[in-house]
Amino acid sequence: MKKIELHWQILIAIILAIVFGLFFADYVLYVSWMGELFMKSLKMIVAPLILTSIASGVANIGSGGNLGKLGFKTISYYLLTSMLAITTGLFMVNLIQPGTGADLGLVQEVEGLSVATESFGDTLINIIPENIFEAFANNQMLSIIFFALLVGFFITSLKEKNKTFLLNTVNSGFELMMKITTFIIMFTPYGVFGIIAVTVAEQSEDTAALIGISKRLGLYMITVLLALIIHALIVLPLILKFLAKVKPQLHLKSMSIPLLTAFSTSSSSATLPLTMEAIENKAGVSNKITSFVLPLGATINMDGTALYECIAAMFIAQAYGIELSFIEQIFVVATSLLASIGAAGIPMAGLVMISVVLTAVGLPLEGIGLILAVDRILDMFRTAVNVWSDSCGSVLIAKSEGEVLNYSKVKS
Ligand code: ASP
Repeated sequence: MKKIELHWQILIAIILAIVFGLFFADYVLYVSWMGELFMKSLKMIVAPLILTSIASGVANIGSGGNLGKLGFKTISYYLLTSMLAITTGLFMVNLIQPGTGADLGLVQEVEGLSVATESFGDTLINIIPENIFEAFANNQMLSIIFFALLVGFFITSLKEKNKTFLLNTVNSGFELMMKITTFIIMFTPYGVFGIIAVTVAEQSEDTAALIGISKRLGLYMITVLLALIIHALIVLPLILKFLAKVKPQLHLKSMSIPLLTAFSTSSSSATLPLTMEAIENKAGVSNKITSFVLPLGATINMDGTALYECIAAMFIAQAYGIELSFIEQIFVVATSLLASIGAAGIPMAGLVMISVVLTAVGLPLEGIGLILAVDRILDMFRTAVNVWSDSCGSVLIAKSEGEVLNYSKVKS
């Protein structure tokens, strides 16, 4: 019998899980462990993968000048696409006006959500960890990336014997982590099944009821989804086609497994190992590029989140009947960008970061309670867009560095 391809298996798992979550909500306990094991394995592999991949990638880039050029291109792409995403969001939310006339009686208590208090300056300062083991223990991505960059960079300045030894060590370490990643990927359909079944069972009643009472919440969801679709299926493919000269459909196919995983786990960090595997093995981008561009992207490039921050803040302003001037809207745009950069690649991180945008323009923080009910669902979509944008960036940058891509493992 012909084996069903993994991305189809994942898709089937998602559909079955939705049915399971809707009709057998009382039994999700029996399947939740599959999701937990899968998430734990992904989280387990992320820190050592980032360390070895960046260290080996950067050590192989060689000179500081090349690294600087790569860094500049990467950051420019990330800022540009995030801004494009926010602009799309701002346009859509002003066009549809989902919040105008919303029922404020639906504000939910925001429990257990600590309001983001870390300023942008603090985030920058905290990139340097006091203790690297603490950074590993807490999965502090930016700190791990920073440390790995230093390791990779200074390996090249060692004496030949030590240099060769450490270069081999990080290269082998990276190869090993990728092997473990490939092994974990085999379990994706089961993991995804467990995660989605639990999410659906937990969310379905509340969300459906709330959307039922409040048409405005439904409209808000539609606004976010439409803006995400425009960004992911029009703006980014145009960049792929005209700047990277890559066929968007082919690239989409190469990314099917990571995208479905991002959607299911709502975590770009947890998806990172799968994204790296796909971009290296299915798109043929070198480790030199992926090791630098993708971990950084999973941490700071969140187009979906950026767009969502802007729409959510504008929705809250509309719901409270607060007119925002042009300048204030520019403020929303700027802080949405910062919030998306600061958001961790974990589920619902974006929701907490909205407090940054709301505080900056003086909107009521309780407004977050208005959108709480549908955040988990929107998180799935925006995380997929976050990962999609990282992947587009990696091929664009690879092309600009003169690499020849190879999509031969993807059926066109
Ligand atoms: N869950 C998103 C991610 O991991 C972040 C967010 O909540 O917007 O990319």
